[in-house]
Amino acid sequence: MTGARSEFDPEQEAHTARFAERVRANQQKLTAELKPHYDFIVCGSGSSGSVVARRLAENAEASVLLLEAGGSDDMPSIMEADQWPLNLGSERDWAFMGQPNPHLNGRSIPLNMGKVVGGGSSINLMAWARGHKNDWDFFAAEARDAAWSYQSVLNIYRRIEDWRGAPDPRYRGTGGPVFVQPAPDPNPVAPAMVEGARSVGIPTFQSQNGLMMESDGGAAIMDLRVRNGLRQSVFRSYAFPYLDRPNLTVLCHALVARLIMSGKQAGGVEIIHDGKVQRIAAGVEVLLSLGAIHTPKVLMLSGIGDQAPDRLGSGSTTRFRPVSTSDAGW
Ligand SMILES: Cc1cc2nc3c(=O)[nH]c(=O)nc-3n(C[C@H](O)[C@H](O)[C@H](O)COP(=O)(O)OP(=O)(O)OC[C@H]3O[C@@H](n4cnc5c(N)ncnc54)[C@H](O)[C@@H]3O)c2cc1C
Repeated sequence: MTGARSEFDPEQEAHTARFAERVRANQQKLTAELKPHYDFIVCGSGSSGSVVARRLAENAEASVLLLEAGGSDDMPSIMEADQWPLNLGSERDWAFMGQPNPHLNGRSIPLNMGKVVGGGSSINLMAWARGHKNDWDFFAAEARDAAWSYQSVLNIYRRIEDWRGAPDPRYRGTGGPVFVQPAPDPNPVAPAMVEGARSVGIPTFQSQNGLMMESDGGAAIMDLRVRNGLRQSVFRSYAFPYLDRPNLTVLCHALVARLIMSGKQAGGVEIIHDGKVQRIAAGVEVLLSLGAIHTPKVLMLSGIGDQAPDRLGSGSTTRFRPVSTSDAGW
């Protein structure tokens, strides 16, 4: 589904390898000299955490620690787009299972979530799927905040995209950090399916991410975050280019156990790393971007929100707030 490698530029490859080596050496040094205190602690290096950490680290004066329970993403099953199914159920997957569902003949459905640098963006299907106008406008109305509106988010999409399909400046952006292209080599079933939809009166589109997100429905072949056969995770697009800098440290295999609270302020985190419990303080802010299950779990373990043991509700009123992908202000 992802297309073969076609571009090969030896100079670019050499540059990439040199940069990767600089990153390796820098991160080895930074993690060996882990400090007891950072300005910002970002918990979880998935889709949202990668963006937040990068945006914070753009300020060279700010020290940023990015904590991740999983390990490195530097392996073929993550990098090579075609190998994506190999991650499911592996050690790079939290591999939750849903409750047995009476509407599914009692079956439990797997609920995969990335446990690796990049989180879901390192094990997902790489489809670039923007939200529908009605949903964004609903969020804006609920939040009473126009920043969530479709028009506002459309501007952000245009700013962050590096769209490689047919030019469509009204809806698509170029030159941003998010490389995205039409599926380069779709299985013949895909266009046949779109044609089938058209034949029964369903509108069809070149991409699902432009005009279709303003319409009542339609069919299109997915846009992909794949370049030259390689996955473009959010971590690789946002955080990785900053990992040769002194102010962004990524600590893998670091499980955030709970927040250290001082009244209603989060003053730091307690982590389990190398088999030891450690405390790290945050001078400015702690950001939770642990995904839909672990964010409320860590809040609950920190005494925030609904503390009933069998529920995962959260009702944080503290000054830090959990972030979601769209909340990250890409
Ligand atoms: C198999 C699969 C296919 C998908 N396909 C697509 C797709 O094609 N297109 C699309 O747009 N979306 C897809 N998604 C969904 C998308 O990947 C997620 O919505 C997105 O990654 C969620 O981002 P997040 O930052 O909220 O959480 P995540 O990306 O899950 O990041 C959370 C991070 O926090 C870490 N973490 C959790 N708990 C702790 C802890 N206690 N301490 C330290 N670290 C912790 C996790 O290991 C993880 O790295 C897919 C997801 C999966 C699993």
